[in-house]
Amino acid sequence: MTDKGNPMTTIQIDSRQRVELLDITDQVRQAIRAGGIRDGLAVVYTPHTTAAITINENADPDVARDLVTALNKLVPFDDHYRHSEGNSAAHVKSTLVGASETLIVQDGTPVLGTWQGIYFCEFDGPRRRQVHLRVIGA
Ligand code: ZN
Repeated sequence: MTDKGNPMTTIQIDSRQRVELLDITDQVRQAIRAGGIRDGLAVVYTPHTTAAITINENADPDVARDLVTALNKLVPFDDHYRHSEGNSAAHVKSTLVGASETLIVQDGTPVLGTWQGIYFCEFDGPRRRQVHLRVIGA
């Protein structure tokens, strides 16, 4: 994943649904550990215009499902959009949720609340996606 001289790690993700939240907490934890920086900040970033990164509860999987339901209700798939590609709903969701999260890294692990997990948000799947991670020591 990380090679010397390139402090950015890339996580590959294969989404399976049109819209879904995928828990990537373990992959992010592993990548931070492998990077070797014990204390600092980690940026988790996805370079796609129809996807996002968020942090929310991962204890009850129904929370992620409810987020998908609510976002689909908030941003209908068809709503007289102008964008000819036909995936404007996915672009809107991507901007609402955001392309990145910043994590505090302490003792080589991200500081998360007991119920928090890191999610990759797919809004125009299924497809192969990437999440970039970079840790800055402080
Ligand atoms: Zn588009």
